Amino acid sequence: MQLEENYSSWWVDYHDYQKRSLYPTPQQIDTPDLNIDIPQLTIAELQQKYHSFLEGVSYRYLGGETFAQKTLESFVSHRYQGYHWKMSRPWQAQQGATSHLSAHLDFGTISARTMYQGVHKLLDRLPAKSKAQYSVKTWLDRLRWHDKFSQRHNHHPELAWQNRYPEFDAWYSDADLDADKQKLFTAWCEGKTGYPLVDASMRQLNQIGWMNFRMRAMCVTFLTINCGVSWHHGAEYFMSRLVDGNIAINHWQWQAQAGSLNPMSKTFRIYNPTKNLEEKDPTLQFVYCWLPELRGHSMQQLLAGEYKSDYPQPILDWKQTRKVNGKIVSNIRKEVRDRLEAEQGEEYQRAIGARDTVDKYAAVKNKQYKDINGL
Ligand SMILES: Cc1cc2nc3c(=O)[nH]c(=O)nc-3n(C[C@H](O)[C@H](O)[C@H](O)COP(=O)(O)OP(=O)(O)OC[C@H]3O[C@@H](n4cnc5c(N)ncnc54)[C@H](O)[C@@H]3O)c2cc1C
Repeated sequence: MQLEENYSSWWVDYHDYQKRSLYPTPQQIDTPDLNIDIPQLTIAELQQKYHSFLEGVSYRYLGGETFAQKTLESFVSHRYQGYHWKMSRPWQAQQGATSHLSAHLDFGTISARTMYQGVHKLLDRLPAKSKAQYSVKTWLDRLRWHDKFSQRHNHHPELAWQNRYPEFDAWYSDADLDADKQKLFTAWCEGKTGYPLVDASMRQLNQIGWMNFRMRAMCVTFLTINCGVSWHHGAEYFMSRLVDGNIAINHWQWQAQAGSLNPMSKTFRIYNPTKNLEEKDPTLQFVYCWLPELRGHSMQQLLAGEYKSDYPQPILDWKQTRKVNGKIVSNIRKEVRDRLEAEQGEEYQRAIGARDTVDKYAAVKNKQYKDINGL
């Protein structure tokens, strides 16, 4: 399997490309005359058909170029402030601390170049080494990743269903789930795992089709590591719900968070939903928003599992499953590492390149973060 890991030339090409002039708005778009019998629904009929989806939803995506442009403008005018620390907090992210442009980008109601240039204008005005500049640069990194993931998918569509390393085939597969796993999977899909932050995130996904990055990653490790359900099933479920569902990003991220990528790194992350609850939703606004049955409960009560409602007890022991299944995934990662090291081939060079890129990025961001906070 050939994978392009040469980031340095890609980096230069990317910035050159995004700095080019925007395409002028076309005077006329010639749409194909399909001439087939498609039922034409009025707005009222559409509302009737999808009423259950719209009921009770107070946060909703609005479509179209005008709204996409407005969303970008509000992000550039003030919402970018504090992006770097708010983006991992599900309540702040839901309230607009992240751009919420992903669906627009995927539907084509705004282009990556428009976003790049709009945000670069802001960047040019910000003081060097300021927190604001750090936030904006962090955001621009993510916009670049969007395109990088798309490009990789274009060359390697098979990675949307195939493990990057075959050593994982026995552990992660799209085979039907047995009854026990199916039960865990259903509880996860419905947001009834007994872990409030996982459940609030999954119900947010089910209702509005969106989740912030950190909660997506946490829900992945809960399903793949703790429940032992393959990333194939989770990725497919996410795609069926996400308004920004993008197979290039979604499926790669599922593999990455499930621990089946970057094997040269000796560690991989398994998110603790209890620790994340305390750190990322300390006021419980996010949990109260999506789990009405937990309103009125204190953090202490949630941590102790003392519920005054019929909210479920945990479907599994997080620590124990982390230990057992985390070890299985770690061992497979080591198998991959050992093979690549023994072969010393191109694949090994690429894997080392990928690991070093990730490590270098983390080190640079860490240093910048310390600088802006005087640490
Ligand atoms: C398991 C998992 C699945 C995901 N699936 C998708 C998906 O289907 N579609 C999707 O657009 N993003 C996906 N992401 C990445 C990320 O969670 C979303 O892009 C982000 O939450 C969208 O919200 P936003 O537009 O407010 O993002 P912002 O934080 O404002 O980011 C700006 C833009 O950068 C891009 N971006 C942000 N984070 C990433 C990332 N980690 N990797 C690649 N591009 C990124 C998006 O296009 C986004 O609109 C996934 C992440 C995980 C962990």
